[in-house]
Amino acid sequence: MAWYSSGLKFTCKLCGHCCSGEPGYVFLSKDEIEHISSYLGLAEEEFLNKYTRLIDRGTYYDISLKEREDYSCIFLSDKGCTIYPVKPLQCSTYPFWDYLLSDKALFYAEKEACPGIGEGELHSEKEIREQLDKAKKRDNYRKIKK
Ligand code: SF4
Ligand code: SF4
Repeated sequence: MAWYSSGLKFTCKLCGHCCSGEPGYVFLSKDEIEHISSYLGLAEEEFLNKYTRLIDRGTYYDISLKEREDYSCIFLSDKGCTIYPVKPLQCSTYPFWDYLLSDKALFYAEKEACPGIGEGELHSEKEIREQLDKAKKRDNYRKIKK
């Protein structure tokens, strides 16, 4: 039985901490690249050049959103996420990430970074597992090195 079988409380407080503060990656799948490009009215190549960076993995690159110098996400504004309706799954499934859910103490330690954890809406185990399944079915878009 999962340690969160009674569900977990989480409500986003829109503080933007998870979109800023420390260096990090927001990886993109092929579908996410298509959806965000289309939302912004850009050709995919234009979107990739303007808003993403290549993360060297040896034989290939993963694609991540760019960060500003202060490590905030390129799409974070003072009104929140400017691509909210098409934000990547990595963002929309937080904090119900596999590695955070692997351990109760780890999940609640994340409250230091995310004040919405342990607050507000109760999410059932079924809902949480649905988020995990979505993440499992999604692949980062990889650019193979030539
Ligand atoms: S850190 Fe948590 S509460 Fe703040 S914006 Fe991110 S998900 Fe929402
Ligand atoms: S895409 Fe939006 S939700 Fe995701 S890190 Fe950037 S600003 Fe935050």
